Amino acid sequence: MNVPLFDLKNQHEHLTQELTAAFSRVLESGQFILGKEVVEFEAAVSASAGTRHAIGVSSGTDAILLALMALNIGPGHEVLCPAFTFFATAGCVARVGATPIFVDSCATCFNLDVSDAARRLTPRTKAVLPAHLFGQTADMSAIRDFATANKLWVIEDAAQAIGASYRGQPAGSMGDFGTFSFFPTKNLGALGDAGALVTNDNELAERARLLRNHGAEKQYFHKLVGGNFRLDALQAAFLRIKFPHLEGYTEKRRQNAALYSNALSHLHGHAFHLPMEMLCNYHIWNQYTIRVANGRRDELRHYLTEHGIGSAIYYPVALHRQECFAVPNPPTLPVAERLAEECLSLPIYPELTNEELQAVAGTVSQFFAKSAR
Ligand SMILES: *Cc1c(COP(=O)(O)O)cnc(C)c1O
Repeated sequence: MNVPLFDLKNQHEHLTQELTAAFSRVLESGQFILGKEVVEFEAAVSASAGTRHAIGVSSGTDAILLALMALNIGPGHEVLCPAFTFFATAGCVARVGATPIFVDSCATCFNLDVSDAARRLTPRTKAVLPAHLFGQTADMSAIRDFATANKLWVIEDAAQAIGASYRGQPAGSMGDFGTFSFFPTKNLGALGDAGALVTNDNELAERARLLRNHGAEKQYFHKLVGGNFRLDALQAAFLRIKFPHLEGYTEKRRQNAALYSNALSHLHGHAFHLPMEMLCNYHIWNQYTIRVANGRRDELRHYLTEHGIGSAIYYPVALHRQECFAVPNPPTLPVAERLAEECLSLPIYPELTNEELQAVAGTVSQFFAKSAR
């Protein structure tokens, strides 16, 4: 049976009429950038995140960049961020002229290890930037205590975690800024690039809004040096249609994860780890990521491919090992390095059928049964 890693076509087939109507509405309005569609979408984002403000922007990457710019983080500053995450988390820190300081991860939850962050604190540290990887938040109580004690800003990279929560608090609402991505394969996906940042701070929201549009409140009068980080009306209109379905998508992802964990529990051991929902977390399963030890991850992936099962390696190289971040004495981050060697993500999208889920789990089990003989 063929099971792709993603199937966006299926998701959008159910919404074709509404999406087409939204396209016509925007076409007729003649307003293609920002405007009413974006304002309405921002209201939906802030309501869902439980924050006072939401600012729609051009991508999840630009949301992180804008948060750093709004906080005046730049040359001479250091930002603590995980080494095991998507590139944008650290790339944005470097783009504002600050230095990303790579922190090791938790082997069970894949997120920033706060005790390792504490070891890397210097007088230049200005912020901590946890990424809520694969759909569940980092240990935000510990991160907030650490940040408060050391007067650090907190930016939550919640690109993969919209709708997740920690002790009942929505992902993105627990830091000074939270950032979301609506890249098509995220849990709430646009039909192109889109992102948002959220905050409860009026002044920071105002700065981010200005910076989104070249620092100008009134056209051609520039208070700050910003950029073009504006969101398209079309993407906002599409996202407004998909937003009411997000809870249902999440429910289905959670059921899919439970099915996998049940079907694969007999393999769980020291050479094979199932992902888990940590205490006090509501996991939204942007990815279902298993860990395969003993150098067998790539072999399993090959086997899955041969049997028509899609999978992906998020992420094959930890960020402190990237060419662009090369330094004379790179840190040793054993967990992040191990995760880069062991992680494998299986199809988890909401539209998967029971048969498809069983086929994925069955093929993984088969691989290990075959090699045990
Ligand atoms: C997707 C993602 C981003 C970037 O989002 P884009 O919308 O693709 O720019 C940033 N951080 C993490 C952890 C992501 O998964």
